[in-house]
Amino acid sequence: MPVGDATGGRRGGGTTKKNAFCSFCRKSYRDVGPLVEGPGDVYICGECIELCQSILEQERRRRGTTKQLFSKIPAPSEIVSHLDEYVIGQERAKRVLAVAVHTHYKRLTLGADNSDIEIDKSNILLMGPTGCGKTLLARTLARILDVPFAIGDATTLTEAGYVGEDVENLLLKLLHAADFDLEAAQRGILYIDEIDKIGKTSNNVSITRDVSGEGVQQALLKMLEGTMANVPPQGGRKHPEQQYIQMDTSNILFICGGTFVGIDKIIGKRLGRRTIGFGQEHAEANETELSVLLPQVTSDDILEFGLIPELVGRLPVLSALTPLGEQDLVRVLREPRNALIKQYQKLFEMEGCELSFTEDALVAIARKAHEKATGARGLRSIIEEVMLDIMYELPDKGRNSQYVINDRIIEGREKLFPIAIEPKHKSA
Ligand code: ADP
Repeated sequence: MPVGDATGGRRGGGTTKKNAFCSFCRKSYRDVGPLVEGPGDVYICGECIELCQSILEQERRRRGTTKQLFSKIPAPSEIVSHLDEYVIGQERAKRVLAVAVHTHYKRLTLGADNSDIEIDKSNILLMGPTGCGKTLLARTLARILDVPFAIGDATTLTEAGYVGEDVENLLLKLLHAADFDLEAAQRGILYIDEIDKIGKTSNNVSITRDVSGEGVQQALLKMLEGTMANVPPQGGRKHPEQQYIQMDTSNILFICGGTFVGIDKIIGKRLGRRTIGFGQEHAEANETELSVLLPQVTSDDILEFGLIPELVGRLPVLSALTPLGEQDLVRVLREPRNALIKQYQKLFEMEGCELSFTEDALVAIARKAHEKATGARGLRSIIEEVMLDIMYELPDKGRNSQYVINDRIIEGREKLFPIAIEPKHKSA
């Protein structure tokens, strides 16, 4: 309770000065109701008291729980084995990420000790073709560590004054993900996609964004490094009269992702290799080539690609993901904890039916997805298309049936229903 006399007895007239106003927000007694009076004509209103309370509460939590929150940081090997449950392949990237994340959260616990050795922040840059698991890796890491997670897109960002979003809006997403628990958000993971699209090269696609993209990079720099950012609680563009939430970004782990199309040529050139051009007839060879070249990427290649040196410097952990081949895609269908096949089987089970896919069917789905060249992204739409009719009719068909999906059904050469249904010899 602040020092001073409660105005209770003097509220609404009496000895209270009718023109008294809150010394903090400057609102008048008439607007905000009773004020608490301190010595020497100082007043505070209920709203400001509540605000002060939440600030103090936050500060208390910041000091008190830093260690407790991260008393159990999983070892890199634990992180990798958790990642293995959800993400197929990408072994090298998993290792790099596990070490980086482990170090990052170790650094947070150390920070509280005020040690004289400060460990640098290790934000991460993930590079790899679309649908190979960049977002999935970041999301899964957040799940393992039980920290808030949000995804932003670098291409929507613009320098202040241009059409588009302010960099701070990315932080707002994290705050949303943490249910406005500022403390939690300040330790979250923010994944920024399409970081390669804000390069200063001719890859620039937007005409509404600042011409070079460099302005955005500059704004990002501060955030990545660690700053007190003013986050507009309602989102949108900032304006002077707005109230901001102050968010400290120094403990947020930033993972930036991008496809960096064409970087293989830069790597190849540096290594003195001739790369094969893109093209359908070379698709296979091209994929192998990418798998060989991408892991050899260095920050120099990224500089040459067009990111400014300061940004590259603030993303010290660099890891390349490789394209997923047909065999990998089959594994993606079947193996992860929440694999697509498992999800459909669960849905069928709920209807009292059984569903299975033949090996050939899985290969056929993988092949179709592979042809689309969107990595594992394409798998879902292919299965959904095949399953639509069957899902539509399933609840009406009755229980105790077995459905077997083969490659001919996937390729549309056979009708779904007539041969796929067999009675199930089990009482449900
Ligand atoms: P991107 O690399 O473009 O960020 P995502 O991580 O968003 O790709 O992948 C899209 C979807 O594809 C994910 O939701 C996931 O289901 C699947 N997927 C992609 N890569 C893998 C992988 N390596 N292992 C398992 N599933 C994957």
